[in-house]
Amino acid sequence: MNAGSLFADLILPLPLAGLFTYSIPWELQGEVAIGKRVVVSFGSKKIYSGIVKNIHSNPPEDYEVKDIVACLDEKPIINHLQFSFWDWISDYYQSNLGDVYKAAIPAGLKLESQTKISYRHDFTANGQLSKTEELILNVLKSSKDVNIQTLTQASGLKNVLPQIKKLLEKGAIEVEERVLSSYKEKQIKYVRLHQSINENEIGEKLNSLKRAKKQQEILFSFLNLSKLGIAEVPEKVTAAELLLNSDTTSSILKALVDKQILEIYFESIDRLDLSDAEVNPLKELNQHQAQAIKEIREGFESKNTSLLHGVTSSGKTEIYIHLIKEQIDQGKQVLYLLPEIALTTQIITRLKYVFGNKVGVYHSKFNDAERVEVYNNIQQNNPDKSYQVILGVRSSIFLPFSNLGLIIIDEEHENTYKQFDPAPRYHARDAALFLAHLHKAKTLLGTATPAIETYANCKQGKYALVELMHRYQDIKMPEILLADLKEAKRKKRMKSIFTPELFDEITTALEKNEQVILFQNRRGYAPYLECKSCGWVPHCENCSVSLTYHQYNNQLTCHYCGHSAQPPQSCKQCESTNMVDKGFGTEKIEDELRGFFPQARIARMDLDTTRSKTAYEKLIYKFENHELDILVGTQMVSKGLDFDHVSLVGILNADSMLNFPDFRAHERSYQLMAQVSGRAGRKNKQGKVIIQTHEPKHPIIQSVIRNDYIGMYQTQMSEREEFIYPPFYRLINITLKHKNNGLLTQAANMLAQSLRKTFGIRVFGPQAPVINRIQNYYIVNILLKIEKKSSPAKAKWILNREANNLKAIDRFKMVMVQFDVDPM
Ligand code: ADP
Ligand code: ZN
Ligand code: ZN
Repeated sequence: MNAGSLFADLILPLPLAGLFTYSIPWELQGEVAIGKRVVVSFGSKKIYSGIVKNIHSNPPEDYEVKDIVACLDEKPIINHLQFSFWDWISDYYQSNLGDVYKAAIPAGLKLESQTKISYRHDFTANGQLSKTEELILNVLKSSKDVNIQTLTQASGLKNVLPQIKKLLEKGAIEVEERVLSSYKEKQIKYVRLHQSINENEIGEKLNSLKRAKKQQEILFSFLNLSKLGIAEVPEKVTAAELLLNSDTTSSILKALVDKQILEIYFESIDRLDLSDAEVNPLKELNQHQAQAIKEIREGFESKNTSLLHGVTSSGKTEIYIHLIKEQIDQGKQVLYLLPEIALTTQIITRLKYVFGNKVGVYHSKFNDAERVEVYNNIQQNNPDKSYQVILGVRSSIFLPFSNLGLIIIDEEHENTYKQFDPAPRYHARDAALFLAHLHKAKTLLGTATPAIETYANCKQGKYALVELMHRYQDIKMPEILLADLKEAKRKKRMKSIFTPELFDEITTALEKNEQVILFQNRRGYAPYLECKSCGWVPHCENCSVSLTYHQYNNQLTCHYCGHSAQPPQSCKQCESTNMVDKGFGTEKIEDELRGFFPQARIARMDLDTTRSKTAYEKLIYKFENHELDILVGTQMVSKGLDFDHVSLVGILNADSMLNFPDFRAHERSYQLMAQVSGRAGRKNKQGKVIIQTHEPKHPIIQSVIRNDYIGMYQTQMSEREEFIYPPFYRLINITLKHKNNGLLTQAANMLAQSLRKTFGIRVFGPQAPVINRIQNYYIVNILLKIEKKSSPAKAKWILNREANNLKAIDRFKMVMVQFDVDPM
């Protein structure tokens, strides 16, 4: 190595630990900088775009460094706050930086191994090419869509990257634009006078077109539209309006361009023309809201985080809007997190009403180009052009903010804030608190039903607590009634899945032209087929779960691996042909309702009906507009939607939630029931809720009826303490996976044993989860419970060491070991 050699440590989009060091060739030394993307080869064939994390002059000792091939960015796309945030996520959630990179950046900004290379037609050789370089160029000249891999095969060379690199340097080839960044900015095509033409030559030019009437017409139109020579600053003219105004075609425009009279140029669209923003004044807060906002501000004086515990429909969103305004006026950015895409639809309208185009939305139903656009927009950080408020779901914590003043986490109790798979398995609420810390920003958590952990943090004085117990305009809380399923069944009064109480109320509501929401818990209620004679149930061949039966297409589907099959004609066990469908999914409920209430307009909102980007919007819009009478839904209908004509909410079966085997089952049941109930009776009148249950005396159901959050909280806290669960203990779940169950068991036992040497009785398992095989991989879990006061960093270090020791054993090399810190 020469003196003056520079090296860059890169984050590569790979599930591998650590950074990767490459050398920076001298010609790229001015370009490569921290936070930019560079192209490198990895292994013999793959090439990737890595992110430069450090630059230094220490050559790595244990391996030979490769050169960086190219630099992709003019400016860094990751700022230093993001790097700190990524480090924290990687460290706290025990995942590789490469996984964080993958989760954080829209795919359009990631260059993967299938990179396309193309020949540059403006290249002239000057006889300086080697034989292999010529060979490569010939392949590229004669074919389209060549990537590194196909090029390697076609050229018969072992490693084409060095040649590619040289050819790149010589300007003979280019890494195709759409791969470098598979996203192209939206551009507008404009027309102007050709550079070579002077304004006072225009008359002459017009004359020269006497025989080309159409071309003359275009030129006239152009002069009219641009007000050239009349206006002090001529107007910009787009090609589209020019063609429209002169009633001609683009081929005629092209003729003028070819004659060098006009010329075409492009400009990126400024989607954010803030001058046009339709901005309305804020709504005045009522006395309760005013009191709450005052307390929030006071809380922020001494604490970084506040919880706004406000009953449903108390006007929390209006309070957020006031706080956002303050931040924007100070030139700060605001991140407004929501747990569910469905909710963005309603809130965005309310935010745009006040903040116009300063609000941007970010979620996974956007296509990649749109996500890149939002990313770049925030990246610019130009107060006149960039979004100042981002409304988004959990992944928006990774956007390139540089100046956050406030993070709002609405419905903070929702478990959709937690990323399950793949790694990093982060909780967006908890991560957002760290993000706020990095920006020296404040965080406001809001909900009617706080997470136990959050409320406990308030009680310990870590967060400020602000309560808002009045609904806006003092609309009454809904009346909650119980319907006893056991009794109705005993007296044979059930109408299919409906108790007489719920059935009658639905009938009444429909008669009065009021709307109804029916809620069915997602878990445990997927419909399945069962043999009536022997009880056999069709299962997935790859996973240990029963297949879900979909009536609309008469298919059995596995919700874990996607495997689908025709329903069997007869039972595989006893050959009886009497197969019946069991369980009540939302689809079945919808069907039953159609039978009972043929006049009613019914729709269903669940994962199946909301796959497309606009499906939510359409459903919500229709329901808001009263084009639907009954909405049947899963968890999705519970989350903060705000409808005006819903007088009745029915919870079809409370027991399935209560009996779910999870230490959070009771907390979640309370939250779900309270939240769904909150959808009843908004603006004009008190609503009604009917909960169907086999256990009307269950303490959780009783606290829902009494709207007694505190009572529920206290009971939960004493149970959590007794059974050593959060918030008293920190949980880390270790999941092991392998195709061979025997080997997996051995590995898990060994890991558990080694962990017990340090953690003793705080290690639980190994045990197989309810679903112990997915996509042919067997699964076991080991649960670690760590005291809150002991160092989580140390525990994680030991955990990593033991996992690495296990994987160092040859026969366990292929066992997958995953960590889930603070599992939900
Ligand atoms: P939450 O977020 O607590 O469920 P919202 O902010 O959605 O409550 O308020 C419930 C309803 O009351 C909404 O329709 C909202 O527009 C209305 N509202 C709340 N506060 C005000 C206010 N200060 N002025 C006018 N309308 C309000
Ligand atoms: Zn059978
Ligand atoms: Zn499956």
